[in-house]
Amino acid sequence: RKTMTDPDCLFCKIVNCDIPSEKVYEDASVYAFRDINPKAKVHVLVVPREHYRNVDELARADAQLLAHIVEVAQRIADQEYDGSYRLVFNTGEKAGQTVFHVHAHVLTGEPLDE
Ligand code: 5GP
Ligand code: ZN
Repeated sequence: RKTMTDPDCLFCKIVNCDIPSEKVYEDASVYAFRDINPKAKVHVLVVPREHYRNVDELARADAQLLAHIVEVAQRIADQEYDGSYRLVFNTGEKAGQTVFHVHAHVLTGEPLDE
């Protein structure tokens, strides 16, 4: 399978360390870093190294990689809190997606309302 990188994509640049970020976890297929504008005490973004536009494209192309992102979210919530977390994939502009490289928002570190 070809490696997909979009030279104009912000998160491809972060994964490739062309733009600095605060790394939380990385392995061969994913990279996790702290959101620059945290919406919870702990707010981490987990992204595949390869470029997919959204979670639907990722699910269809590589369901195992999507499952791995969920495992990494759990690991982060175990390390940074008590294992509780909220996992969010904004999909589409009208849902608030602003970066079109799929990313899981992992919100944890404190009790979450609503
Ligand atoms: P979306 O709105 O697409 O679901 O989420 C994009 C997220 O990326 C936002 O929560 C935003 O704060 C975060 N973000 C945008 N630019 C940067 C950046 O340069 N560095 C980091 N660490 N996070 C970013
Ligand atoms: Zn990308």
